[in-house]
Amino acid sequence: MGERGNCETLVHGAGGILGQASQARADAVVVDHGQVVALGVADELRREWRPREEIDAAGLLLLPGLIDAHTHPVFARGRAEEFDWRGQGMDYLEIAARGGGIHASVAALRACDEAELVDKVAAHFRRMLAHGTTTCEAKSGYGLSLEDELKSLRAIRAAAERTGMQAHATCLAGHMIPLEHQERPEHYLDMVCEELLPEVRRQDLARAVDVFIEAGALDLAQARRYLERGRELGFALRVHADQFHDLGGTELAVQLGAESVDHLEVLSDAGLEALALGGRTYAGLLPAVPHFLRQKTDAPARRLLQAGVPYFIATDFNPGSCYTPSLFEAAHFARVRLCLSAAEALHGVTAGAAGSLGLGAHKGRLEPGYDADFLLCDLADVHHFGYGFGDNPVRQVFVGGQRIR
Ligand SMILES: [Zn+2]
Repeated sequence: MGERGNCETLVHGAGGILGQASQARADAVVVDHGQVVALGVADELRREWRPREEIDAAGLLLLPGLIDAHTHPVFARGRAEEFDWRGQGMDYLEIAARGGGIHASVAALRACDEAELVDKVAAHFRRMLAHGTTTCEAKSGYGLSLEDELKSLRAIRAAAERTGMQAHATCLAGHMIPLEHQERPEHYLDMVCEELLPEVRRQDLARAVDVFIEAGALDLAQARRYLERGRELGFALRVHADQFHDLGGTELAVQLGAESVDHLEVLSDAGLEALALGGRTYAGLLPAVPHFLRQKTDAPARRLLQAGVPYFIATDFNPGSCYTPSLFEAAHFARVRLCLSAAEALHGVTAGAAGSLGLGAHKGRLEPGYDADFLLCDLADVHHFGYGFGDNPVRQVFVGGQRIR
């Protein structure tokens, strides 16, 4: 922090500031060395601070930069044709059986060279930044071979450097057993556990590993082997479970100390109890996914919150089951389908998401000591968060105190 008195930036004239613990009236934020150093009323702050630059927020609402804690941005092309098939009545698993689904994305990614892939990921990151996402968790998982998973994780790193997105990579080699190993899935898991994950660790290409526990993806025993190996190598664990079938994935995630278990549309009472008793594993709520898949069932969000389970809301941005880069849309679906309040939805895409990624001490809030990642949004007040849809209220985006949009 600079010497008291001097600071880099004073943002003043905000219509309000969300994401701060104190309820005191504030319309201004002081930024120095990439961090928030003070909040308050501009006239009072000017008596204490001499900013080198002032930014007039012109009545816009100040929000912490949004954090998308579950995305799959490393893919070579969309799967829009499947959206039509679904309209004709096919479900997710029938589409996979027809050669669509994750295997189609794997084939496309393997055929895409690395430079082109970086361009595509960067384009997704720019779209997410334009919608106010300044930090994201980004998964591989469409490579499913040693080289193609490493290529995917390198693409996340390169695209983050190019765009300013604060990306935290997750290796999702446990997304599915690739087609060439369907007869002998243990051969794939041998490669992942003995070659890929150690190499990802050696090159420090990911902070977490993730697995999809589902019929047609990995079963519970395969997931346990993969996650235990990940944990042994020092990775944080994230889990996709209870999306279509209850295979006991949530209980496994809690037992292994996973930092999050995501989807939960068919979460059982036992799974909910395990989450509540464990108390540390975040419930990842992805409410735009059942909308996109025309599913009737939603995660039991109100019961999870009632039980005190920590939670976040994310987009699950991906080519097959949720094609949106916007956390404002995800928050809207959280309010409509999960019956969350505006404040609960905002928590889910800021402090809750930060907590699930181990970033809770410096991201997800606007408080002194937190990173100066913030948005100026055309929203009247907190009640408008997740209220409108099909509109982007983000007017300016700052990461580490620097305006990037
Ligand atoms: Zn996902």
